[in-house]
Amino acid sequence: MISQKAKSIKPFIVMDVMARAEELERCGEEVIHLEVGEPDFETPAVIREAAIEAMQSGKTHYTHALGLLELREEICNHYYKEYGVEITPDCVMVTNGTSPALLLLMMAILEPGDEVIISNPHYACYPNFIRACGGVPIEVRTFPEDGFQYRSEEIRKVISKRTRAIIINSPSNPTGIVMTEQNLRDVAEFEECWIISDEIYHGLVYKDRARSILEFTNRAFVINGFSKLFAMTGWRLGYLIFPKEFSEVLKNIHQNFAISANSFVQWAGVAALRHAWDEVAKMRAIYNKRRMFMIRRLEEIGFRIHHEPTGAFYVFADAREFCSDSFKEAFHIIEKVKVGVTPGIDFGSAGEGFLRFSYANSIENIARGLERIEYYLKNRGKCE
Ligand code: PMP
Repeated sequence: MISQKAKSIKPFIVMDVMARAEELERCGEEVIHLEVGEPDFETPAVIREAAIEAMQSGKTHYTHALGLLELREEICNHYYKEYGVEITPDCVMVTNGTSPALLLLMMAILEPGDEVIISNPHYACYPNFIRACGGVPIEVRTFPEDGFQYRSEEIRKVISKRTRAIIINSPSNPTGIVMTEQNLRDVAEFEECWIISDEIYHGLVYKDRARSILEFTNRAFVINGFSKLFAMTGWRLGYLIFPKEFSEVLKNIHQNFAISANSFVQWAGVAALRHAWDEVAKMRAIYNKRRMFMIRRLEEIGFRIHHEPTGAFYVFADAREFCSDSFKEAFHIIEKVKVGVTPGIDFGSAGEGFLRFSYANSIENIARGLERIEYYLKNRGKCE
């Protein structure tokens, strides 16, 4: 028997699009992938070399359940340098990716029936983490004209005695929008619950800079990781920053359910935080060129971009003028012109009519992919 809980976990809708892309590729078609949510860059050499060196020197054992002290210290240094916040290594837990950090955090804070507020649209996996730990995701509608940022009054309408946390994600997947200082301050004012800040796209910001929630409140948990900034998706390395009172309980949870994160991967993480910043700056400059190009082209083609996305590597484009069913539209696009895009509905009902374009692809491929989409839109009548 498969549990109801397991059955309730649905795949991303974009997986259907990707499965079709694979089929087309097997038949010899050339598909351009603008749906991907991971960096197209190689992990910087300095990081790969550190992992090899760690493996060869026998760093192949379990580590402390909270993670290597050296890595936790580097994470503390990083948060001090970037945001001026002082955290100590006993308030950091290193995990095999940001995803497990969020799962273990949900385990640590939720009783059955407790509520967690998420925005609509939101990163597709959030509701599943909440439900898996007995919680109830409560969606708060956000609006394109606000850059899909929370409105405090909308949060106030749904906050209750059962609310345990509000999740924020800036820069955001899927919108690429960076929360302003005022947005962060407004959310931090909800003192009756925890704020969980998903900072995984920090560092991939092209104007101004992202602020950490820890600059505004201590009633917060931060999840972050190496996947995006250091192009390390396959390495599985992330971390959780938490209030001191959770140190013991999180250590126990991690010890039981994972023991520790991979040791040589943690050493690679130390090298990333110490030595990979030049590489990060190069990747960021390239992403930024692609971002500006993509925004310009999407607007020329007729998509509406309500707020300039200045972070992550996504543009969430309003296609409502010509599309009411983003899933069908994504399918038509892959079928007719062989370009993969992510349907907005994947991120919640407020994403309907939008398409997410990723610029984690070369500028040449972005140019060709958007040319194909332009052709598709001009010739829709004929295609359908
Ligand atoms: N949060 C957001 C917003 C993401 O986009 C992702 C990855 N797509 C994650 C968390 C999980 O990242 P990882 O487990 O690779 O650290």
